[in-house]
Amino acid sequence: MNSSCLFNVVIFIDSRFWSRRTDAEVLTDWLKPVTSHSRIKNVVVAGDVGRFAHLKISPKLTFVSDTDERALLLRQCAHPEVEGVLRLHHISKLRFPIMPQLLDATIEGYLKEAPGGYFQMDLADLPYPYLTPEILGKDAALVLQAKPGLALDWNQLKSFHSQEIRLERGILPYEARLAYLENAHVEYFTFPKFMALESSRLCNLRCTMCVTHSDFIDHSHLNKYPKHFDLAKYKWILDQMEPYKDFMSIAPQFQGEPFMAPHISDMIAYARQKGFCVGFTSNATLWNDEIIDFLIDQEVNNLCVSLDGATKESYERVRIGANFDTVVGNLNKLVNRKLERGVVLPWLSINMTLMPENRHEQEKLLSEWLGKAYLVSINNTCINHVVPEKFHQPDRYPCPYLWEGVHLLTNGEVIACCRDSDYEEVMGNAFDTPMLDIWNGEKYKLFRRLHATKQWNDIPICARCDTWMCKTKKTVGDGDRMIMQYPFYRQYISPANRLADYSVGGTLEEIWGSLKSATKKVTGSLLNLNPLWRKAS
Ligand code: SF4
Repeated sequence: MNSSCLFNVVIFIDSRFWSRRTDAEVLTDWLKPVTSHSRIKNVVVAGDVGRFAHLKISPKLTFVSDTDERALLLRQCAHPEVEGVLRLHHISKLRFPIMPQLLDATIEGYLKEAPGGYFQMDLADLPYPYLTPEILGKDAALVLQAKPGLALDWNQLKSFHSQEIRLERGILPYEARLAYLENAHVEYFTFPKFMALESSRLCNLRCTMCVTHSDFIDHSHLNKYPKHFDLAKYKWILDQMEPYKDFMSIAPQFQGEPFMAPHISDMIAYARQKGFCVGFTSNATLWNDEIIDFLIDQEVNNLCVSLDGATKESYERVRIGANFDTVVGNLNKLVNRKLERGVVLPWLSINMTLMPENRHEQEKLLSEWLGKAYLVSINNTCINHVVPEKFHQPDRYPCPYLWEGVHLLTNGEVIACCRDSDYEEVMGNAFDTPMLDIWNGEKYKLFRRLHATKQWNDIPICARCDTWMCKTKKTVGDGDRMIMQYPFYRQYISPANRLADYSVGGTLEEIWGSLKSATKKVTGSLLNLNPLWRKAS
């Protein structure tokens, strides 16, 4: 690292996210590590600083009630004695300390990959999606200064302005990642952030790519599992997780189609009544007017629908048993009903698994659905256990899924990830053991330790898996739309103007105001993802 480079830091406090933090936490987690770092010249804490303004522990530290973060960052970057400004903007209520390893890695990444430009350290694959340290260099600041209309948004700038500004994104190095994985103060790791509970094992389709239901694989060894999840046990498990409801999402679905479950409406309603964010995948073949209104009434946050083709011919060759016109009709009904009722939820995303039958229809699918759906995902994913070519490949690191969420089978067994499709590694049974005892139990600890010490090959399912890399993204521009490119899939984010055509209220502010008040856990990632956000805020 160049020893002569110094940086100013801006910590922006948003009281919606910082209200739970105590003075002691703010001191030890944020102010001490940042002010004591040798590369940091000055630290400005801005925004809702009132409650913390007395914590002036260092001459480097200033508190200002400035709320224009963009202007503040540009001013801090302009100081002649600094190389650039480090932006620390944390949009989560969960405790997360700033560690010296994170500061070192971000500064080093900037100096190596984007000196003078705009560098972002992506923590989503730590996993930790609600803090994205960024460094703005002087060349990038000059462009932003000259163009007040340009949002200070790395994704948008990378997508639409990468000719003008040098933009690079970093992946946290192994050592820094390990320091976080072993830090007991990272509250995010202490409970699962999502739970998929398999409401029904049954599916009414026999899609050719499906690892559970296609006719190409013998699934008879899985017949021992109950067909549906018991409603009383479902409620008992959700009751246990209620203290974490503000930070968790519930998917009442895993490998089956949720609307095959006799109690799916009760399951959705119970999770919503408890205050959990609810989102799940469906094939949309069984929806009707009543179900669509129910999903809207319940403010289900997000629905992902698999639409593996843009034409009836290719779709029905792949999704055996489904009717293209029925599904497209149901999706349009959802979009139109939301408009009629003046609501933004549920957010719709469309998924296409790439196969020889539909490869040529990607653009047609995107042009027809981006806008109606906020996101279209084109997947080059595992098809019947055959792992495809990757779009890009990072060096191996500990798998985020072991720290992130759980999947519960209909007999209560907990598996760590969706890649364990034959349930080789059962982490515990949630019908006889409290969920958090499983999450923090010996088997989870062992698996996490094996991953943290690079011994992932000692776990057979992990040894042959590629899914650990799924969150490592590249952002690329493509005309007027943004593409997040992951190793096995590309997410196309709807341009703001097209999304506005299919959203209520007419103004972007209203759309996002409604989204922000109605969603909980996923709001942070949507804000990061969607080009509407900066425009609306
Ligand atoms: S099988 Fe793959 S996705 Fe699952 S925990 Fe192991 S590395 Fe992660």
